[in-house]
Amino acid sequence: MAKMRDDVALVCEGCGRRNYMTSRDLKKEGKLHIKKFCNWCRIHVLHKEAKKK
Ligand SMILES: [Zn+2]
Repeated sequence: MAKMRDDVALVCEGCGRRNYMTSRDLKKEGKLHIKKFCNWCRIHVLHKEAKKK
């Protein structure tokens, strides 16, 4: 049975820190880009997905 969701980290584009963990739908194409609050930058910035390691 194929896995339909994949765990990914969301990385702040400002400071590069991994602030959030989420899961993404493998059927959706393209990378996740979500605007979220970064505690380090103290602003809402774009977070992009990165492989969980
Ligand atoms: Zn940041």
